[in-house]
Amino acid sequence: MSAAYPRLLLCLLTLALALAGVAAGKISAPRTPISRDIYHSSDSLLREIKALVARHSSKLSMDTIKTSNKGYSAELFVVTFNHVKERMDNGSKVHILLSFGQHGRELITSEVALRLLYVLTEKPKIAGVDISSFEKLLENLVIKVVPMENMNGRKRVEEGELCDRRNGRGVDLNRNWSVDWGKKEKDYDPYEENPGIAPFSEPEAQIMRELSRSFKPHIWVNVHSGMEALFMPYDHKNTTPNGASAHSMRSVLENLNRRHFQDSCLVGSGGGSVGYLAHGTTTDYMYDIAKVPMPFTFEIYGDEKASSDDCFKMFNPVDKKTFDRVVNKWCMAFLILFEEGLRNLRDAQIVSQGTLENWVPIGGDIVEINVERKSSIRERRKLEGLDLGMQELRTYFRLFLLSTFLLMFMFCARISKNRNRDSGNLFDP
Ligand SMILES: [Zn+2]
Repeated sequence: MSAAYPRLLLCLLTLALALAGVAAGKISAPRTPISRDIYHSSDSLLREIKALVARHSSKLSMDTIKTSNKGYSAELFVVTFNHVKERMDNGSKVHILLSFGQHGRELITSEVALRLLYVLTEKPKIAGVDISSFEKLLENLVIKVVPMENMNGRKRVEEGELCDRRNGRGVDLNRNWSVDWGKKEKDYDPYEENPGIAPFSEPEAQIMRELSRSFKPHIWVNVHSGMEALFMPYDHKNTTPNGASAHSMRSVLENLNRRHFQDSCLVGSGGGSVGYLAHGTTTDYMYDIAKVPMPFTFEIYGDEKASSDDCFKMFNPVDKKTFDRVVNKWCMAFLILFEEGLRNLRDAQIVSQGTLENWVPIGGDIVEINVERKSSIRERRKLEGLDLGMQELRTYFRLFLLSTFLLMFMFCARISKNRNRDSGNLFDP
């Protein structure tokens, strides 16, 4: 009987260790991998776009632009939608430039780009809703879509760097532009926000700048994920621009928010709304330097409950239902944006002027008001410290449990040995 005590304790110890292991597994939940059954790989996305362009050569065309800088090269694919190519673009058409996937980890944005191209060409339905009423609108637009601005960074994500948002050599493409470039906030995070060695040091940013110069967009949208919001300039200060142009921008976003999002989206300046300032961003350049009348940044999805190191889940829907809902919702949002944008640009007589040279945004600031602050992913990432603290506490607790069991084991083994000695059995068989 006496020999059963150590064995019993050993069993208990093993059980406790097993339970601790299970608990540990639950605590540090595995990172969600890319849902490859839902998402395209960058290669397959590109193949599909090329096939689509080939099938609809009357409406779509594609350019490949490649450039390099100091041994690093990048390639960008630009799809142009021009409903009636033959019709002269005499300045009456609205030029729209949309960029997706500027941050590598935000895969969902490129999926929206692909679906939007389908909607514009062969699938004129969104979630079963017929959108042929937009057909007339599309005749007035030239849309350039950059489906994967950060192809090299995207490849890194596909290779397993799920939290990486930077380009192939570690620069944040949304910090590499010249407006207020290189300024670092107190909470500057080099992993996330490396602005590069100089403004436009990165080939991707150079290509996009050239595109903005040659195409002269009236509407620019930089499409990201991490939260849901409709942003206008500025990103580098806590204000929106002043004057009629800012009024138009805000009115377009507010109408879109009311018509399509039941006023549920955060609307305002990027810098005044996300809880941190961003320097050297594309949208600020598009407004201040490229003089784009309506430059926006859309944040299309964010899982605020996801753990801060579970980046795929944080920035991308992980189930098919949510994926479809997000993609459909934002394709429709773009159509409504085009409609609102066209109306506003015509009212302001910007489109009918034919050129943009006469259009100058009016400077000055107004302090952002009435903007509901929501916690952004970035802010939540700052809570990582707290998460780490909790994990440490849990580890100490597990160690404490383990040592308690060991002590109990030794104590009981000692007692049983003494009993054996008392009963004359010196050795336990
Ligand atoms: Zn982003």
